[in-house]
Amino acid sequence: MSEDKFGREMHKVTCSECGKETEVPFKPDGERPIYCRDCYMKHKKPSGNY
Ligand SMILES: [Zn+2]
Repeated sequence: MSEDKFGREMHKVTCSECGKETEVPFKPDGERPIYCRDCYMKHKKPSGNY
């Protein structure tokens, strides 16, 4: 287990789109697809501010 620079617990996952190994700051629920940063940017809703 590792932490990011904000001290959040990181979980190692495989991106559902490109298959690249990445880490996310939340616990994967096993139902929703997990994306790496690149794919997340492609999938995130245009209306979001984050
Ligand atoms: Zn990806």
